[in-house]
Formats: sequence, structure tokens, C-alpha cells
Amino acid sequence: MMREAPLPPGSTIGILGGGQLGRMLAAAASRLGLKTHIYSDEDNAPAFDVAAEATVAPYTDTQALEHFAASADVVTCEFENVPAASLEAAGRAAKVFPPPKSFAVAQDRLAEKDFIAGFSIGVAPYAGVESLDDLRSGLARVKLPALIKTRRLGYDGKGQALIRVARDAEDAWAAIGRVHAVLEGVVLFEREVSVIAVRGQEGTLGFYDPVENVHENGILAMSRVPADISASTAFEARRIAGAIAEALGHVGVIAIEMFERADGSLIVNEFAPRVHNSGHWTLDACVVSQFENHVRAIAGWPLGDTARHSDAVMTNLIGADVEQWRALAAEPGTAVHLYGKAEARPGRKMGHYTRLYPKR
Ligand code: AMP
Repeated sequence: MMREAPLPPGSTIGILGGGQLGRMLAAAASRLGLKTHIYSDEDNAPAFDVAAEATVAPYTDTQALEHFAASADVVTCEFENVPAASLEAAGRAAKVFPPPKSFAVAQDRLAEKDFIAGFSIGVAPYAGVESLDDLRSGLARVKLPALIKTRRLGYDGKGQALIRVARDAEDAWAAIGRVHAVLEGVVLFEREVSVIAVRGQEGTLGFYDPVENVHENGILAMSRVPADISASTAFEARRIAGAIAEALGHVGVIAIEMFERADGSLIVNEFAPRVHNSGHWTLDACVVSQFENHVRAIAGWPLGDTARHSDAVMTNLIGADVEQWRALAAEPGTAVHLYGKAEARPGRKMGHYTRLYPKR
């Protein structure tokens, strides 16, 4: 695709979704002199605080979506489960990036596995499941222990159940609500890594250094960079990220989550067609963050420098963790980011902090 002239400063970026990712995208856009219009189905969405314009309406309201898109020079999305019809409605009034294919594939865990495996990129052994019989026959191919995950609308470990032994199958099937699912073998891994890549409208690719991630209760707790992986594994992680971004014709930031096994090989778990929690460290440890690079890509700007000037450890502030903000704010070498959410419910991402260290 040919890149059109970059959107000049003063242009408006429409963002579907008003969470912390939208908030950080809007802040990054403002650094480039761009305005943002946020569309959310919640009032008091965190991103409203930092945007020029806000629309509150359901994602199914095609009229409101078209009206919103007409006010923007380009539209993007900060969450991955946006309905295809919403993107289509916005697309009638503005250009939309990333392309619908990136969302369609990412929203369906089975399509995602098929897509990734189609490029000879490693994935866990898997099988599509539409019934308890399918699950039983899938278990014959996918070795135990295994995980069953709903094909759609799972995130942060939700919509998943572990099957340790064959007799767990029925309970697991019930636990996920007997919906279309994918069964996958549990991967024995040394560490979880992710790569944040950005692809411009002309196909230029940029990559941030691979990150090592620690999850707790299915939610990202901490990201560390550099990851403790070899140069050849880092090279392979980037190659995989680039191959997926290119095959999708993706425009914008994309995050690929992988498992590194003991032999250094990589297995892709999933990708997110958007800025990602495991890329928050780029705000403080890179010249141009994932948020700004997403904005640059969708606005047709040259991609920004992804180079990292510091080592970094990013920690999420989940629920009541946010009460540490005073102490963290007093810490030298630490950048504190709070998302402006009023209520610190358990499991809710309230903010994060990044500790910077001299690059080794
Ligand atoms: P997901 O919702 O697919 O991102 O899964 C959430 C977390 O569960 C991952 O970050 C892993 O820690 C773990 N997990 C998911 N799938 C697998 C798997 N096939 N093998 C081992 N761990 C997994």
C-alpha cells in the first residue's frame, strides 16, 4: 500500500476504546501536535481526561460510529475485541488502521493458531473443539496436561480451564461455558517473551527489544528488558514478529507473545493487534514509545527510533497496589504512570511504574 502524505499536526486521530491504552495513545499523539477523539461505551473512560473530544455510545451504534469517524482523519482501536461491524461502520467515514484482518485473526484463537502455524512458526499442539466429543478426541492428539480456551473473548487468562487428567474434561468443558474453543497442550517453557513491532503503511518494520514477561494469575505482573535470551533467540523472535505483521498487512503496533523453551526455541502463544502492556517500558526507556510509533504508523509519519537507551523493569499496579504511588513517585530513576481510574477493584490495572537502569 502506498503511504499517503503524513497527517499534519492539528489532525485528529479517532480512537475506539477509552482505557489506559487509549489514554497513553492520546498522550503520545499530543506530543506530535495531533488531537484525539475517543469513542467509548463507558462514561468516565480513562482516556477522556487527555483527549480533545469524547463520544460515549455503544460499539453497536453504527450512526454514532460513522459520526465519530467523520470527525477524525484516521481511526484506530485500542482493544482487540472490537466487533467487525464497528470497524466497518467507522471505515465508511474514515481510514481505519490496523486493517480488519488483524482483528479478525486475533479475535479467534483457532484462526490465530491456523494462521501462525501456516507460516511454519511454532505453536502449541492444538485442536478445535465444538463439543465434548471433540474435546475427548482432541485430547488423544494434544497431550496432557492441556488447556481449553474459548475461541473468542478470552483475555488475561479468562475463558480458560486446565485439564490435568482425562477425567477433568467434562468439568473443563462446563467451566468455559460449552462454547467453541481451542484445546492446546501446555508448553513447558523457560520464560515468556514478547516482541513489540510496528509496521508503517508502506511496509517499513520497526522492532523493540524482546521483553521478558512474568504473569501472575493470568495477568501481566512485570516486564523486564533486556530479556535473558541469546542473540539468536532474539533474532528469531523478531523474525517471527515481522513475518506475522507482514502476512497480516498490519499497519500500526502489534505485540507477539511467545514462550521460550529450554532449547531456546520459540512457540507463539498469541498476538495482539495493538499497543500492549508488555511495551509500556518503551515510554521511558526508548526515544519513541510504542504509543507514539502506533500513532506515527497510522498517521503515515516516518516510524520513530525504537532504540532503547536504558534497561528497564516495568511493574503493573493492580488493584490496591496503586496505593504505593507516593513512595514510587519519590524514587529516583522510577517513572510512575497512573491511569486516572477512580475505583481500585481487584485485578484492575490502575497504573504501572518503570524502573530504569544504566544499559549494560
Ligand atoms: P493467554 O490468555 O493465552 O495469554 O494465556 C495467559 C497465560 O497463561 C500465558 O501468558 C501463559 O502464562 C499461560 N499459558 C497460556 N497458554 C499456555 C500454554 N499452551 N502452555 C503453557 N502456558 C500457557
